[in-house]
Amino acid sequence: MKRIPVKTAHNYEVLVGAGASRTLAAELRTLLPSRRLLIVTDRHVAPFHLDSLLAALDGCECHPVILEPGEENKTMASVMSLLSALADAHFDREDAVIALGGGVVGDMAAFAASIYLRGIAFINLPTTLLAMVDSSVGGKTGVDFAGGKNLIGSFWQPRLVICDTGYLGTLPADIFADGCAEVIKYAFIGNPELLELLETHGIPCAGRAEDAELLDEIVSLCVAHKARIVSADEFDRGERALLNFGHTAGHAIESLSGYQISHGRAVAMGMCVMTAAAERAGICPSGVYPRLTALLTACGLPVEAPFPPGAIAAAASADKKRSGDQIVAVLPEALCRCIRYPLPLAGFARFLEGEAAR
Ligand code: NAD
Repeated sequence: MKRIPVKTAHNYEVLVGAGASRTLAAELRTLLPSRRLLIVTDRHVAPFHLDSLLAALDGCECHPVILEPGEENKTMASVMSLLSALADAHFDREDAVIALGGGVVGDMAAFAASIYLRGIAFINLPTTLLAMVDSSVGGKTGVDFAGGKNLIGSFWQPRLVICDTGYLGTLPADIFADGCAEVIKYAFIGNPELLELLETHGIPCAGRAEDAELLDEIVSLCVAHKARIVSADEFDRGERALLNFGHTAGHAIESLSGYQISHGRAVAMGMCVMTAAAERAGICPSGVYPRLTALLTACGLPVEAPFPPGAIAAAASADKKRSGDQIVAVLPEALCRCIRYPLPLAGFARFLEGEAAR
């Protein structure tokens, strides 16, 4: 099991390894004064993993809450149900919330923990690849609101994250592939070691014993990468934006598809759109695009967006969280190196189509 430190306003560790969640009770003894825990999970995850977690927490007072799964349930109403459960059981400032689930459960449980009694301890046990390599580290919490993704939320760092890669064995293959898009993202924003690992060994198969070590290594490299970025830019005012590689175009693609295209697949297409445009504009030498598409294709991810550049640019410009008359695109400028590249909104479509925008 690896221990990866994250340095933020309060420091914490991310534990990575198959079976790592079995150490939770021992970890809690050193972290928390209380033994009272709200365990938040969802209806897909609970049948596989809730009982073993409760068994590992023998001796603690556990209050499980099982939410409906999926992005459509990432709402204030779900968060209100968590706050009610906390209040009904008279949780106090010494108690804690534990998330057992993907990014949806994690974001909502963390948000509830951040606002109940002005903030109580939060512990994250991510169960999807995306949540392990991305959403569980860094303290962004939230829900969707008024048509805007993650429009309401807070920064609230967890006290501990345990990426038990054994959980990934029950993940449907298409959801595992969505997480692979985020893994590949780290390689291209600045992780040559990860790129080499992926190109040499391919993407491991979750649940296959002989792939367990490689999977742990990949998750650890991604977590350590995110930990470095978050430690340098906790509140997302600079370098952290690099994590959005593929996401500006990706969110636009998700939204144009009426959310029929999953987040990971949209990010895969978004990374390809931005890389192709960067190569055409001479910002990035040619040769990055084929290596990106080869890895994405090997994971079963799409590399061609089904919408024209003008439509993607228009949808990105309409994003509720965007402000001002610029889009800060994240573009590769070399293999394993991305930069933030401000573009005038008016020129974004032309840039994606392949004409100089500046
Ligand atoms: P998700 O949480 O919706 O999980 C995907 C599906 O897999 C769900 O149906 C879930 O019930 C099921 N599932 C989860 N783990 C399972 C397991 N081990 N076995 C079987 N089924 C399992 O999706 P996700 O991709 O994990 O997270 C997406 C969310 O993460 C989005 O809401 C996004 O906004 C958020 N996110 C947050 C951050 C952040 O920094 N906070 C970063 C990236 C993404």
